[in-house]
Amino acid sequence: MEQHIGKIWLVGAGPGDPDLLTVKALRLIKGADLIVHDGLVDAAILALAPPSAELISVAKARSRHTMPQEAINALLVEQALAGRQVVRLKGGDPFIFGRGGEELEAARAAAVPCEVVPGITAAIGCAAEAGLPLTHREAASAVTFVAGQCKDLSDQNWAGLAGHGRTLVIYMGIATADAIAEKLIADGVSPAMPVAVLEKGTRGDSRAMRTLLADLGGLVKRAEVESPALIVVGEVAARSDAVDVLLHS
Ligand code: SAH
Repeated sequence: MEQHIGKIWLVGAGPGDPDLLTVKALRLIKGADLIVHDGLVDAAILALAPPSAELISVAKARSRHTMPQEAINALLVEQALAGRQVVRLKGGDPFIFGRGGEELEAARAAAVPCEVVPGITAAIGCAAEAGLPLTHREAASAVTFVAGQCKDLSDQNWAGLAGHGRTLVIYMGIATADAIAEKLIADGVSPAMPVAVLEKGTRGDSRAMRTLLADLGGLVKRAEVESPALIVVGEVAARSDAVDVLLHS
């Protein structure tokens, strides 16, 4: 008898607030046989899954219980080949620092049907909450998203991405905030450039804070900023509702 093949859905869960799920994401979560999620997906979103759905956590980031990417790819493919509707649920958008591209390639290689459902990426969700326009006719006509993890930092060329008229959003940069500020200042960005730190955006306990680039590492330490958080560098940060936490203010 021929085996019925299921499908992999790479679904963006948005930055935290369940109300920021797309209608399609919600429908897929409610109809899933299996939900494979990472640590960033809010408990309130997982609670929307029906009791019949199996949930598997493949927590990423600095968690101890991590599953290597190859094992995640293999799990998705194997479960879909077994006929299940597999929802791979990721924080934000699957294609923004979410390794959705690798999972899509694994599905293609195994000839398993795979569809990508976009989500609101952290930059978009957190900026909205903080009243921080990522572009603004008077302050920024370009916006760039970069990843700030330690191992890649020295290899990355951010020259020209931050500065007058531009907004730079740094994901995964809290642990290396000091080095990020140094790197940008060495690239010629003014130490007095406004920066915002947006912590746990769109969740109940979010904070939006602001200082100047030279004090970025200081702010992260003083305010004991926790992951997940974003750093926004640019004049638009000064136009936000973020609270000033300047050293001497
Ligand atoms: N695919 C995700 C990003 C995954 S990388 C997206 O599109 O948003 C993980 C990083 O995203 C975190 O280290 C943090 O920098 C950022 N991030 C995710 N959710 C966040 C939130 N609610 N508030 C602030 N930053 C967040």
